[in-house]
Amino acid sequence: MKIWLDGALQEHDEARVSVLDHGLTVGDGVFETVKTVEGRAFALTRHLDRLARSARGLGLPEPDLDEVRRACAAVIEANPVALGRLRITYTGGISPLGSDRGDVGQTLVVALGETARRPDSTAVITVPWTRNERGALTGLKTTSYAENVVALARAHEHGASEALFANTVDRLCEGTGSNVFVVLDGEIHTPPVASGCLAGITRALAVEWTGAKETDLPFEVLSEADEIFLTSTLRDIQAVHRVDDRELAPGPVTAKAMRVFDERAADDLDP
Ligand code: PMP
Repeated sequence: MKIWLDGALQEHDEARVSVLDHGLTVGDGVFETVKTVEGRAFALTRHLDRLARSARGLGLPEPDLDEVRRACAAVIEANPVALGRLRITYTGGISPLGSDRGDVGQTLVVALGETARRPDSTAVITVPWTRNERGALTGLKTTSYAENVVALARAHEHGASEALFANTVDRLCEGTGSNVFVVLDGEIHTPPVASGCLAGITRALAVEWTGAKETDLPFEVLSEADEIFLTSTLRDIQAVHRVDDRELAPGPVTAKAMRVFDERAADDLDP
């Protein structure tokens, strides 16, 4: 596997990032996960915009998006896979041991791994931990994902593939790597970005393409909703068939949203 580091393609087992990289020592970085289909990236411009937005939010110098685009193209070409997970990581670079940032530049890594299409439906759990809708990092896609890692591990322990968070005021927020939608009386709703969720790219497309409403929802809506589905870059739209102990039959509104998404998504692949 070839990755992009320090301005060039390198063999991944030879590429070296400093042990003093602020991404490693304090999680000071931002990232994107982009889907590739037969060597074409899905919604790349939206991902690059969000990468730049996240970097600005952390106060990092803006990444050179032309270089990131070139890096993505080079990595995609060097690693032919049917369905790929392209990972762009941009960190605060080599820094002193501590929270202050160094001034020798940032680190950009682009890597691509093969992935498989997700099942059409999945089980999820709820977790007692909260998303902070008022934090300095709220809404930014930073490399500080340790809480997501813990919650996802708990989901796997319970035979589920995702864990859902409330925010600090007990409103529905998001999953560890996905946004959440519920169907109530035939209408689709998803929490607003002000809930503290990531402004997911799949979420935005699903809202645009299905007419879903952005609604502030109580966390308990998960025990009443007629249908529930998740959205993310690697899941697209995925129905939920179990929340904790509650079984749900994947329903017609979700099935239609999945169809619409599949039809429209084909137009958003980069050439
Ligand atoms: N929320 C979180 C915390 C995520 O990590 C992701 C995955 N990037 C999402 C939501 C879904 O976003 P997207 O549709 O852009 O993949």
